[in-house]
Amino acid sequence: SIVVTGATGSLGRLVVEELLARVPASEIAAVVRDKEKAAAIAARGVELRIADYSEPATLAGAFEAGDRVLLISGSEVGRRVPQHTAAIEAAKAAGVAQLAYTGILGGPDADIALADEHKVTEQLILDSGLPYTFLRNGWYTENYTANLAPVLAHGAVVSNAGEGRVASASRADYAAAAAAVLTGEGHLGRTYELSGDVAWSFAEYAAEVAAASGKPIAYHAVTPEAHLAVLTGAGLPTAFAELLVDVDLGIERGRLAATPGDLARLIGRPTTPMATTVRAALAA
Ligand code: NDP
Repeated sequence: SIVVTGATGSLGRLVVEELLARVPASEIAAVVRDKEKAAAIAARGVELRIADYSEPATLAGAFEAGDRVLLISGSEVGRRVPQHTAAIEAAKAAGVAQLAYTGILGGPDADIALADEHKVTEQLILDSGLPYTFLRNGWYTENYTANLAPVLAHGAVVSNAGEGRVASASRADYAAAAAAVLTGEGHLGRTYELSGDVAWSFAEYAAEVAAASGKPIAYHAVTPEAHLAVLTGAGLPTAFAELLVDVDLGIERGRLAATPGDLARLIGRPTTPMATTVRAALAA
């Protein structure tokens, strides 16, 4: 089977949709921890395999010999190394034919804190000897457009990334790339640096939100300290706010701006422009 973990997540749902457009549902399996949340997926004829990365015993039934597996990185930052270790060990024990993993743009060169667990996971996969495909995902444009309410309310985009640029793409673009490597040939042992075709600045993002919403939106380039205060003031836990400030410093250093074109090549079309995702979010 073609197996997708994290299938009830935002990316995983889109990967399942992309797979359903390419292969019969009977060839697809979804690894989920919450069966109820996966009801819509099961209704499409996709097999459900229930497992939690944090409970290694539950992963025993997640994979079968010959499966082509997409391990979608977990969302519980700080707990992901033992979680991914358990998933990789289960894939190894089962004898899967392909283990694709959603890492981070730049891989070992991504010098931001959020990249640490991805680097360890890629090394664990290499050490496992399993046939792998590394999908090093850049940023989702939705990371920003999911947060338009305060931007519109305050008329400002706030960041400590300075003039740094982000080569983001839509989640659907990354999902199409994952489906391509799970259903196509020639992807074993390959590493893809996935990112949008265009790297935009926060000033350009603010201008786009202004144009699409018809409201004046400024870009406030602030210090890391000021940004941290804004984020914690808005109610974010300090540890998470610190991670976001660290991401912006990485963006200022250019770490999420690479445009090698791997994503467009894998999906056979240009990536979704930032403006398109902004307009979709405003229309939703
Ligand atoms: P989501 O948070 O929507 O999805 C995460 C998925 O992982 C969910 O399906 C969740 O299950 C599953 N999951 C988390 N912990 C466990 C666990 N212990 N056992 C089994 N499943 C688990 O994130 P996205 O889909 O948007 O992104 C996918 C991944 O990409 C994220 O998990 C994160 O690693 C990374 N990411 C990348 C970003 C980028 O811009 N490139 C931005 C944000 C995250 P459930 O549905 O039950 O909660």
